[in-house]
Amino acid sequence: MRGQIDAFTYNALPARIVMGSGKRKEVAAEGARLGCTRPLIVTTPEQASLGDDVARQFDAGSAAVFACAAMHTPWDVTQRALDAAQSVRADCVVAIGGGSSIGLSKAIALRTRLPQIVLPTTYAGSEVTPIIGETRDGQKHTQRTLEVLPEVVIYDVEFTLSLPVALSIASGLNAIAHAVEALYASDANPVTSLTAEEGIAALRESLPLVAQSPQSVEARRLAQYGAWLCGICLGAVGMGLHHKICHVLGGTFDLPHAQTHAILIPHVVAYNAHAAPHAMARIARALNAPHAWTGLYNLAAELDAPRSLEALGMPESGIDRAVELIMQNTYSNPRTPDVHTLGQMLLKAWKGMPPEPME
Ligand code: NAD
Repeated sequence: MRGQIDAFTYNALPARIVMGSGKRKEVAAEGARLGCTRPLIVTTPEQASLGDDVARQFDAGSAAVFACAAMHTPWDVTQRALDAAQSVRADCVVAIGGGSSIGLSKAIALRTRLPQIVLPTTYAGSEVTPIIGETRDGQKHTQRTLEVLPEVVIYDVEFTLSLPVALSIASGLNAIAHAVEALYASDANPVTSLTAEEGIAALRESLPLVAQSPQSVEARRLAQYGAWLCGICLGAVGMGLHHKICHVLGGTFDLPHAQTHAILIPHVVAYNAHAAPHAMARIARALNAPHAWTGLYNLAAELDAPRSLEALGMPESGIDRAVELIMQNTYSNPRTPDVHTLGQMLLKAWKGMPPEPME
C-alpha cells in the first residue's frame, strides 16, 4: 500500500510541450497554430545566429531578431525590446536561450499579452514557470502571474549541445535545487513530488554523462527531460530557504545565478534535514545515496562543480550582512531559520566544507 495521501491542492499550469531533436524547425508551424506569423525573436548577443536561423522559417521581412537579452531582465533592455516589438508589429514572441532570454520574453508578454514560443538552451526551467524577475534601478522585483507563462515550449536537444560543460553542470544542479525544495514545500502535493523525484533522478544519471561526453545527444536529452520536470516543480509550488538565500547572495554580491545554487543546495538540505525527513528520504532515493545532503555534495564533487562561495568571490565579511537580509521576511521553510545556525551554515558553504545536519 502507498503511504498516506494527505489533503492537497494542485494547480496544473497550461502549456504545450514539444520535445525532440530538430523540433526547432517547427517554430513557424507552432506560430501558425497560434495564428501568429510576425514574431519578435529574442535572444542573447552570443546566440544571435540561432535567432537568425529560426527567423528564416518565416516569410521574408516578417520576423525580427532582438539579440540583447541580459541576466536579471534589466528594465532598459525590456523598453528597447518593447519598442522593437511595436515597430515590427510583432504578433508573438519567440525566445531562444536560457533564463535571460526567456525573462525578456516574459517581460514583453506581461506588457503586450503577446503569446510566447520558447526554446530553452539551458536547464534553468524558467520556460515552464509563471514567474518573472525584473531589475530596475538596481532592485530585482519578482512576481508570479499566469500572464508570463509561455504558451509553447520547444525542447530541441540540439540547442543544448553547445552549452559549456561547467555551465551545464551548474545549470543542472540549479534545476535539482528546484525539485529538492518542492519536496519539502508547504504546498507540496503528490504530483509535484513525483515529478521532483523523477527530475532529480534524471539529472543525477545524466549530468556525469554530459560532463564526460558533452556532445552525447542521449545524455543531453535525459538532462533536458530532468530540467523540464524540475522547472515544473519551480512553477507549481513555493520555494524555501535555499531560493531565498540565493536571491540575497546573487543580488547583494553579484554572484552567478546557477553556480550559487549549485554550492548552497547540499548545505540547505543538511540544514533542513531533521525538519523534513520524508523529503530527505525521497531526495536520497532519487540520488541513490545514503543521505540527501551527502548525495548532493558528492554529486557536485564528482562533477567538479564549484563548492565554495569564496571561490565565487563572496567576501567572508559579507556573511553577517547576508544573514541579516535572509532573516528579513524569509520564505516558507520546514525549519525556522535563526541568526546563529544560519551564519554557521553559510560559513560552511563559504569555505566549501562538506555539509552536516545541524541541530
Ligand atoms: P542565461 O540565460 O543567463 O545564459 C547564460 C549564458 O550562457 C549566456 O551568455 C547565454 O548566451 C549562454 N548560453 C545559454 N545557452 C547556451 C548554449 N546552449 N550554448 C552556449 N551558450 C549558451 O543563464 P540561465 O542560468 O539559464 O538563466 C539565468 C537567469 O534566469 C537569471 O536571471 C535567473 O534569475 C533567471 N531564472 C528565472 C526563472 C523563472 O522562473 N523566472 C527560473 C530560472 C532562472
